[in-house]
Amino acid sequence: MPSLQRYSTFGLFASCNSIQPFSDVASFLHYYQQSSIVYILGGGSNSVFTQDFDGTVLVNEIKGISHFDTESHHYLRVGAGENWHDFVTLCMKEKWYGFENLALIPGSVGACPIQNIGAYGREVNALIDKVECVFLETGEQVLLSNKDCQFGYRDSVFKHALANKVLITHVNFKLPKHYELETSYGELASLSDPTPEKIYNKVIEIRKSKLPDPSELGNAGSFFKNPVVSTTVYQAIAQEYDAVPHFVVRENDERTNAGSKLEQIKIPAAWLIDQAGFKGKTLNKVRCHPTQPLVLTNLGGATGGDVITMAKDIIASVQEKFGIQLEPEVRILGSKGLISL
Ligand SMILES: Cc1cc2nc3c(=O)[nH]c(=O)nc-3n(C[C@H](O)[C@H](O)[C@H](O)COP(=O)(O)OP(=O)(O)OC[C@H]3O[C@@H](n4cnc5c(N)ncnc54)[C@H](O)[C@@H]3O)c2cc1C
Repeated sequence: MPSLQRYSTFGLFASCNSIQPFSDVASFLHYYQQSSIVYILGGGSNSVFTQDFDGTVLVNEIKGISHFDTESHHYLRVGAGENWHDFVTLCMKEKWYGFENLALIPGSVGACPIQNIGAYGREVNALIDKVECVFLETGEQVLLSNKDCQFGYRDSVFKHALANKVLITHVNFKLPKHYELETSYGELASLSDPTPEKIYNKVIEIRKSKLPDPSELGNAGSFFKNPVVSTTVYQAIAQEYDAVPHFVVRENDERTNAGSKLEQIKIPAAWLIDQAGFKGKTLNKVRCHPTQPLVLTNLGGATGGDVITMAKDIIASVQEKFGIQLEPEVRILGSKGLISL
């Protein structure tokens, strides 16, 4: 039974029936048809295997980057198995700007649309033109437009109607040559005369100082999503606690008319978890990270059971204290596939 430990950045001890890397659609379909239970893996930075997996893990190694430009845009077609940060770094070297805020996010290009990766005020959906997929059951190829992908906060159609139905083979990006740099977020605001390079370097510096490096301390980044609540819920919390950190989120309300915006409030899950007393807390070999409580870490030899217990305790405590239900951002796997907490 091959070990999955090095295929997932959380690094739990877990095995599976077989691990098959593939670099083209034909070999993917061949392996897919041979196995009754399959999990598609990119860099494993958002997947936590809490038990031995009773199936085949197919590791995406579809490579290739092509580029052309027009007067107004750069267009890129990128193999889903390319490493995200290496790709971002290449774009910086080539002066294909736009990805600078998204530097140093682990994982593959193919996974970026799935949870619409985002950091430091940018989400990747702003730069995605089309996503190329193959239906698992039929092998039929399909080209999804940005709109078809139904992007939201850490969300897309790949987590809903197309969940477990497609393999993403390529992501097509469209980068405007003229755009406004995003420096409103935290320490980026203090950059003088910002350039894409300065933002890229600063983002890397901040991330290295705040987030544990998975090659040194197993983790899967943010374990939970930041909850988005109504203004009424936020106001009730703000009355009880001083200086509740928050961000206003405005979304189009399709129930009324296109111009109408609903105002909701995003509260950092890290703050809620800290207030619930979990920052730095350890359960056996799982720790809620002392400088970023949104991240759970594997101190070495953690078990899937410990991870699930700690995550459930956090959810229950935040629910009890604030009446807010935290949702995992990570994909949690049991023996037969994805599980919910
Ligand atoms: C230290 C650290 C920091 C992080 N910071 C951020 C951050 O700032 N912002 C952010 O948004 N995320 C962040 N993440 C989460 C993670 O990096 C992203 O979710 C990333 O996109 C996952 O890529 P992956 O290839 O490793 O995904 P995997 O874990 O391999 O897969 C994730 C999911 O996508 C599916 N999948 C993967 N590839 C394909 C494909 N080609 N076709 C179909 N399905 C596929 C898998 O089945 C799985 O369900 C962080 C993680 C870590 C460890």
